[in-house]
Amino acid sequence: MTHPPSEQVCPSYRDTYYTRTMEPPLDAKPLPERVEADICIIGGGIAGISCAYELTKAGMSVILLEADQIAWGASGRNGGIVGPGFAADGAAIEKKLGLATAVQIFDLSREGVEIFREYTKKLGLPGVDIRPGSLSVSRYRDAQGMQDYVRHKSDAYSYPVEYVPTDTLREMVRTERYFDGVYDPQGFHAHSLNYCLGLARETQRLGGRIFENTRALTMSRQGADHLVTTQAGSVLCKTVILCQGGMVDGFHKRLQRNLLPIGTFVTVTEPLGDLADEIINTTAAIVDTRMACDYFRITPDGRLLWGGGMTGNAKEPADLEQQMRRAFTSVFPRLAEVKTDATWSGLLGYARHRMPYLREMHDGIWAATGLGGHGVNIGPLFGRLIAEAIVDNGKRHTVLDPYGLTWNGSAFGPLAADTVYYWEAVKERYFEWRYG
Ligand SMILES: Cc1cc2nc3c(=O)[nH]c(=O)nc-3n(C[C@H](O)[C@H](O)[C@H](O)COP(=O)(O)OP(=O)(O)OC[C@H]3O[C@@H](n4cnc5c(N)ncnc54)[C@H](O)[C@@H]3O)c2cc1C
Repeated sequence: MTHPPSEQVCPSYRDTYYTRTMEPPLDAKPLPERVEADICIIGGGIAGISCAYELTKAGMSVILLEADQIAWGASGRNGGIVGPGFAADGAAIEKKLGLATAVQIFDLSREGVEIFREYTKKLGLPGVDIRPGSLSVSRYRDAQGMQDYVRHKSDAYSYPVEYVPTDTLREMVRTERYFDGVYDPQGFHAHSLNYCLGLARETQRLGGRIFENTRALTMSRQGADHLVTTQAGSVLCKTVILCQGGMVDGFHKRLQRNLLPIGTFVTVTEPLGDLADEIINTTAAIVDTRMACDYFRITPDGRLLWGGGMTGNAKEPADLEQQMRRAFTSVFPRLAEVKTDATWSGLLGYARHRMPYLREMHDGIWAATGLGGHGVNIGPLFGRLIAEAIVDNGKRHTVLDPYGLTWNGSAFGPLAADTVYYWEAVKERYFEWRYG
């Protein structure tokens, strides 16, 4: 189902490919009064909704407050690429924690992928439309590096992925930009906005209460409980879970000081017709290996959905559409005449170590945030881990404890992030020049 922009199902969402193909919005009103619950979740992205679903399913009384609408932020406008891992590099995780713990953490990230797949199927979530495969590609010759990676993933992580040599890769992705690839048959791509809407509806069906257009404004202690206030009401609860992603406002000052919102961008073309198969001859989503990578896929209705860029400056560039067009035509010059239908930006929440943050920060206040560019698997995982911890005193989440909060650099944070991206890009360009 594709809606033209003039018939946007829900005008308050940003106009994206996802809103043009979305299921009906949730039936959720603003919170009008004072209510009580076991749990109050702040933020209705994939992290918040996953927590709400799991905890409601486990029998807790749950309230979710969303400042705008369900999956209005990153969760409703991302690349839709789902695979194991984290924003931080696997080698960096191994270096910090050792191989055994790195494997344990990686296995959790695999579990997140499987939860997404399982719920989509088991709950029959409409419009999620999972398409198989993900393909990681290098912009310079790196056969040895990629083969070593494949062997390591298989031997140390028991995770089978396949090396794709240049000739085969260029049959799959018809451009001379890429040299070597790694194919992950367990990865996939999907409609993350529809996943969030479907899971939110299931949560409501089980008795969870969701309030949209309800910003959490303050939080204070009331004896052993917490009181969260909103414009027209309040929630008295035992436990608060902070799931504000990259949209951290002043609601929780410590998180605001420690997470950095990073902007990234997506565009979608008009339907490509036969051209789609001519440029991409695989169902898989494609991601290049750079830090600020390009990622793209053919949507079920035959468009190129192309994402890329990273900036610490939360402002959207005035010429964003042209920048995105330059990026995809530099890889597929034959798309020069193709029109784009929608272009948008979104904010990721990053800690400096680029790992997600999940823990009880203080008595009854949990944070499930910092999902970075890997939230579509981490969000579902966090829902499960938090429910285990709160309901059954589970401890699996503590494996992430070494990744605490680190100051984001305040006003200098965005500049520092841009400097890191800049020098990474210089290094990557050198490799492209030297080995391309
Ligand atoms: C353009 C883009 C492309 C991406 N591509 C991919 C990809 O292909 N694969 C992948 O795995 N990940 C991808 N990501 C990352 C992924 O989308 C995020 O990591 C994930 O969606 C974060 O989910 P979240 O629930 O933590 O935050 P969000 O989805 O940002 O949700 C946070 C919610 O909290 C609400 N909120 C904030 N403050 C308050 C308050 N005070 N009161 C009430 N509500 C509040 C916001 O309105 C928002 O809806 C991408 C992200 C972007 C932006």
